Amino acid sequence: MTDGVSVAQKSIGPPVMAGYGGVVNCPKCDAQGLTSTQAGEIEVDLCQGCGGLWLDQSELPRLLELDPSQARALRRGRTQVRNNARRADCPRCGREMLRVASAQSRKITVDSCPDCGGVWLDGGEFDQLFEAGPG
Ligand SMILES: [Zn+2]
Ligand SMILES: [Zn+2]
Repeated sequence: MTDGVSVAQKSIGPPVMAGYGGVVNCPKCDAQGLTSTQAGEIEVDLCQGCGGLWLDQSELPRLLELDPSQARALRRGRTQVRNNARRADCPRCGREMLRVASAQSRKITVDSCPDCGGVWLDGGEFDQLFEAGPG
């Protein structure tokens, strides 16, 4: 399964996503499994393939208020037009996510699940939101 591919284990905690009950795959690219990443006191799921981020709606405002050094790990990836325009299903409940303007910055469109309220940020989008600030 891992023939010839060495995966650097950089995860801080155990690879368990509380409340998900299993591995969550990236809704936008073909990467298998999101990596649980700690930013400050908030845990988010990061895709190593496209740099996308999966988080709860309530976590986004808190993430935007993080110290830049804490948020650094999340500010990766570039906006890929292909991914940005792509519709995606919620990695948690499988429902098709809605394309909505971010409450923080109307210029940035994010994917949001109408069922669980989770938010998907494509690679680079968190960076743009962080630059725009929490309000
Ligand atoms: Zn991905
Ligand atoms: Zn959902």
